[in-house]
Amino acid sequence: MRKFLEIRDWSPGYLNVTPQHVTIIALCKACGASREFDRNGVPANLRHALIADIERRLKCSSCGAKAGRLRFGSYVEGQNEKRRLPG
Ligand SMILES: [Zn+2]
Repeated sequence: MRKFLEIRDWSPGYLNVTPQHVTIIALCKACGASREFDRNGVPANLRHALIADIERRLKCSSCGAKAGRLRFGSYVEGQNEKRRLPG
């Protein structure tokens, strides 16, 4: 099963400078729900926004709380498997 591995204590600062290979997860601090954040679904006026500004606008689809946090990292396959990425 895929596991999300967060880059600890790191934020790109702005959404538009987040490398494409970095997976963004939106996490609700109120209920713990998390889902993949679709950077292409962000309104045009927020594409160059600060990550902190985007976090302030996140609303949880499960509980409705505005307690969103963005986590950055990547999915890994299991614990000891290291997969070579194509290209
Ligand atoms: Zn929630």
